[in-house]
Amino acid sequence: MMDLEMVVENFIAGVMVPCKRTLDSYEPGTGKVWAKIPDSGTLEVNAAVAAAKRAFPEWSGLPIQERAKHLLKVADLLEKRLEEFAVAESRDQGKPVWLAKAMDIPRAVLNLRHFAQTVPNNLNTSNVRTDAGVVNYTVREPVGVAGLISPWNLPLYLLTFKLAPALICGNTVVAKPSELTSVTAYMLCKVLQDADFPAGVVNMVFGTGPSAGEALVSHPEVPLVSFTGSTATGKHIAQVTAPMFKKLSLEMGGKNAAVVFSDCDLDACVNTLKRSSFVNQGQVCLCTSRIFVQRPIYETFLEKFVDIAKEIKVGCPFSQEVFMGALNSKPHLEKVKKYVKYAVEDGGSVLCGEGVDLLILPEDNKQGYFMRPTIITGLDDNSRCMQEEIFGPVTCVVPFDTEEEVVKRANNSNFGLCASVWTSNVGIAHRMAHKLKVGTVWTNCWLVRDLNMPFGGVKASGIGREGTQDSMEFYTEAKTICTKIA
Ligand code: NAD
Repeated sequence: MMDLEMVVENFIAGVMVPCKRTLDSYEPGTGKVWAKIPDSGTLEVNAAVAAAKRAFPEWSGLPIQERAKHLLKVADLLEKRLEEFAVAESRDQGKPVWLAKAMDIPRAVLNLRHFAQTVPNNLNTSNVRTDAGVVNYTVREPVGVAGLISPWNLPLYLLTFKLAPALICGNTVVAKPSELTSVTAYMLCKVLQDADFPAGVVNMVFGTGPSAGEALVSHPEVPLVSFTGSTATGKHIAQVTAPMFKKLSLEMGGKNAAVVFSDCDLDACVNTLKRSSFVNQGQVCLCTSRIFVQRPIYETFLEKFVDIAKEIKVGCPFSQEVFMGALNSKPHLEKVKKYVKYAVEDGGSVLCGEGVDLLILPEDNKQGYFMRPTIITGLDDNSRCMQEEIFGPVTCVVPFDTEEEVVKRANNSNFGLCASVWTSNVGIAHRMAHKLKVGTVWTNCWLVRDLNMPFGGVKASGIGREGTQDSMEFYTEAKTICTKIA
């Protein structure tokens, strides 16, 4: 296999535009450069915004069912190329190919189909009221050029979760995918060309956050920014966009708790918490990283959880056998490992994984960014590993005694994205769900998603929600029209 497989170009006004300045993009599974991507800046972003602006009147003026047809065609073409996209996503991001095949690419197809099929039935619903000789009604209008910024953990999945609602609502788009995972977004541009998608409606500019991202979010002709990424970047974007009164959606970090009561189905719980802690190498914003276990089952839980974690196969993302591939980048791997050191400094015990279990890798993957699933106990709730987002295969387990106590402790976090509760008592499940300060609570399950339901976080995890209704409201403005009729 050649080392350099991909040369990514910007996609502006329907054509691929090479960029003289490029960045190396590494394949996490091998540690080798496998793609060159544009190092875009203001010039490229300005060209993309101008193209999106030119395309806006025609695209927003199309009947919504026509826009839906365009999106459905892209979904069909993408689905036909599932295998190729899954391999590219895996090589670019580090996740196992089977996971990209089962989750990332099918979800990208679903995003396109879901919004194309649901929004047309709801968008023009008018709130009609007649009163004293007037009729009032509302219309929802697209906002204009939408700036979309997405992260590296679920590259195509999260990009299309923004792209589909923005487009079906009639906006045109300039997207800036993560500089660490640009390849499938670029491949999607080729699909857009194959689908005869109207030129300029979707523009993709590749490059770093401080350069291309900053130029996009601060552009005066981009009235709406949808961001998914870290809380630090989200905070910065909020500061940049606030004085310009842009519409802003922020989906940011998490420090998600699982609360395990002693009456739960322990085997089902342990199996799901294995997934919620370690799938995608623990790099899903919804991953569990603090597990509170009720004292009577604490030791039994730990034994089962450590056993199941030790059985996890880590290695070549092309292998069907591995559950975990590589972390996304070398600096990120180093950051995650540093947290295991912090845990030891803070008095914790590492029960399995980093520093405890051997990591045996195939020859081709020895330079890749791998680590074993790591479980830590004995930490104080206010320690670094219990408070800061690690975003890797590291989870902390601590005991608790009462419901009242665990509510306070689980809520002792700056973040508030999601939580899971494990119990067979409906009363406990109900009370916990209402008391946890997060955007989503799963009871006896995790990551079961219905795109009709609002998704998002509270506190440092985000502002705004994504989903059928919320995305429709975000990507449009409501206008009230009042007409005198008598
Ligand atoms: P990041 O904040 O480093 O980067 C996210 C995106 O922002 C990238 O495209 C990056 O280039 C861009 N960016 C960086 N600086 C910018 C700037 N000054 N202006 C404009 N854009 C800029 O995040 P990441 O490391 O790519 O992703 C991991 C983070 O994303 C984690 O914190 C994770 O929890 C979070 N995340 C949240 C959700 C959610 O739905 N809440 C989903 C996935 C990931």
